Amino acid sequence: MIDAQAKLIERALQALGPKAVITDATEIEPWVTDWRGRVRGAAPAMLAPGSTEEVAEIVRLAQEHRVPLVPQGGNTGMAAGATPPADGSALLLSLRQMNRIRSMSAENRMAVAEAGVVLATLHDAANEVGMRFPLTLGARGSCTIGGLTSTNAGGTQVLKFGTMRALVAGVEAVLPDGSIHNGLSDLKKDNRGYSLDQLLIGAEGTLGVVTAVALRLVPAIASRAVAWVGLESPTRALDLLRHLEARTSSVEGFELIPQDCLDLVLKHVRGTRPPLSGRHNWHVLIEATTAAFDTDIGGEIERLLGDALEQRTIEDAAMAASEAQAEAFWKIRETISEAERAEGQTLAHDISVAVADMPAFLGEAAAKVQQAFPGAVASGFGHLGDGNIHFHVRAGDRAAPDWYEREGGEITRFVDDLVTAAGGSISAEHGIGQLKRDELARLAPTRVFHTPILGMIKKPAAKLPAMPPKVFMT
Ligand SMILES: Cc1cc2nc3c(=O)[nH]c(=O)nc-3n(C[C@H](O)[C@H](O)[C@H](O)COP(=O)(O)OP(=O)(O)OC[C@H]3O[C@@H](n4cnc5c(N)ncnc54)[C@H](O)[C@@H]3O)c2cc1C
Repeated sequence: MIDAQAKLIERALQALGPKAVITDATEIEPWVTDWRGRVRGAAPAMLAPGSTEEVAEIVRLAQEHRVPLVPQGGNTGMAAGATPPADGSALLLSLRQMNRIRSMSAENRMAVAEAGVVLATLHDAANEVGMRFPLTLGARGSCTIGGLTSTNAGGTQVLKFGTMRALVAGVEAVLPDGSIHNGLSDLKKDNRGYSLDQLLIGAEGTLGVVTAVALRLVPAIASRAVAWVGLESPTRALDLLRHLEARTSSVEGFELIPQDCLDLVLKHVRGTRPPLSGRHNWHVLIEATTAAFDTDIGGEIERLLGDALEQRTIEDAAMAASEAQAEAFWKIRETISEAERAEGQTLAHDISVAVADMPAFLGEAAAKVQQAFPGAVASGFGHLGDGNIHFHVRAGDRAAPDWYEREGGEITRFVDDLVTAAGGSISAEHGIGQLKRDELARLAPTRVFHTPILGMIKKPAAKLPAMPPKVFMT
């Protein structure tokens, strides 16, 4: 541990007490590796403040002692942004103790949750007052409101409700100089100048520590229809989405899944069963909801799928007959990454292109990757309606213990070049973290690096009077 860190830890202990300053290596250990288990870091201490004032105190101390902090929520991020550097130069700043829901108002359709509130906890609390926070994703049992805000997370209902950016009404955060920005407000409209809140969303902790967030709510779901569809191609899947969207506004989830991903789930995830009797090149999982108790949402979706079947847009479909079956369908979608991990090494690329271009991109990119790296298996699944696919390359016949280290970088650059040539983004919803930092620098158009922000993140501390090298590391 370097001297500056020891001094900071001692001062933090004096100011906040031992509950907020964890130096026991076994307690820190579970939090220094990223969710995918690819990036391992080290930190001599984990600071765990319980209030905004305590976060501010820690940031002021970090500033004074020039020690970088790595903010962390549930550590479920996919880009290793919450993992400290391996040289132990930074301290972890865990927001998990800040886990109060400060307010929940059905009248105002607004909740204020602290950064450490777990998404599933917020879902339950909103449901208790007849409301809903309409963003969800596979990590909902662990990911936090601070992490979701800081990565501008998307998830499976973006089609209808947008990403965090659309659902955050205001942010409270501690800024690099230790001051507190209070953007929490009950106002639905407020055009007084710039929105620092919007800048903090998706900043991955580089501009401040999010301590609480005002979140927009919608009425709770009265009923939902979940359907599994088999079809020939991503083009047909997009045809189906447009067919549905032209006739109903109730579709909020539309997930594309190739047969090979379904096969992996059936092979590795216990208790899963094929939703349809036959095999199909591609599958789509559809969720439609209504907040109106007198709407027969199941009947509506079944009728629309019947039309699509008649028009040969789709090959087969099954409506979930119960909540248990609906959950079983969703389990298949949400365990694809887990099944891939069980199968072997996988390179994950969270990419987006224009929605209309995605079907062609998927086929062409997979073919090009497999041609350039014979034996590897490329395929994509995910949020077709958002033009956002998780384009994964599995080692396949090229599998070797060092495959990831040996070829990972080259394959990822190959994929990222294809995405960039198609006018797409190499990070659709997972952020930059550590994993995509070099590729962002290599490929991002100049406008993405808004100069003053780049200055704060990348330039040497000497040019940044009020900013340590990186108070907030990503
Ligand atoms: C099974 C699974 C499914 C997923 N599905 C999706 C999906 O469909 N869509 C999607 O968008 N994402 C998905 N994710 C990843 C998603 O980004 C994270 O789940 C979530 O956004 C991160 O929350 P977290 O609390 O775990 O943040 P962490 O992983 O702890 O941190 C993520 C980043 O935010 C920063 N950060 C965390 N808290 C704060 C804070 N309070 N202030 C400032 N910075 C902070 C960290 O430094 C890091 O850079 C999935 C992850 C898993 C494991």
